[in-house]
Amino acid sequence: MDARALKALELLPLANLYRLVEAPQAPAASALAHVGWEELRGLVMQCRQCALCEQRKQAVFGVGAEAAAWLFVGEGPGADEDEQGEPFVGQAGKLLDNMLAAIGIERGREVYIANVVKCRPPGNRTPSTQEAAACAPFLDRQIDLIGPKIIVALGKTAATRLLGTEASLASLRGKVHQYRGIPVVVTYHPAYLLRTLPEKAKAWEDLLFARRTLRGAS
Ligand code: URA
Repeated sequence: MDARALKALELLPLANLYRLVEAPQAPAASALAHVGWEELRGLVMQCRQCALCEQRKQAVFGVGAEAAAWLFVGEGPGADEDEQGEPFVGQAGKLLDNMLAAIGIERGREVYIANVVKCRPPGNRTPSTQEAAACAPFLDRQIDLIGPKIIVALGKTAATRLLGTEASLASLRGKVHQYRGIPVVVTYHPAYLLRTLPEKAKAWEDLLFARRTLRGAS
């Protein structure tokens, strides 16, 4: 079903709710192979590859050092991020900043923060597989440009996207995975930790594990 036609009929929110809108063909990853930061940002900000663009205030590109050793990947922007144009600026973001501080890193320095999808899923629902696929070339190109030494996948959506597995988060924790030769460590999403405080200790273990992995790799 075509997103524009549905929008004209004021049926788009309903269609999104029932996941009836199909993502158009995503840009081929190879088409972005020579795209630099500025051009990539422009493509993301204007992207209309899936229906998430219909309700966004703005696309949320990513933030941080462009040659960071650490890359943290979340799920997708929430209301605060959609408003401010930066990933993880709401409550979950404050927790993420504290998690980063606990391992001695600071937003804007030696870390880059990005999401699987760049536009807010309505009602903060989990992005669909098609939406994640439509956005995949953008995240892939960001990873190529950054060249991180370690990637931390925050939550199941990021882990599934980067590792191509539907395995449970619990089973993925505590192991070093690979994304195109880059070590990947999986931990809980900060929004989940806000709801499940006892799991914070496990996330702390995961970050220490990631730091050891990074040190071992460099
Ligand atoms: N949750 C995410 O996964 N990403 C954000 O940017 C904010 C909240």
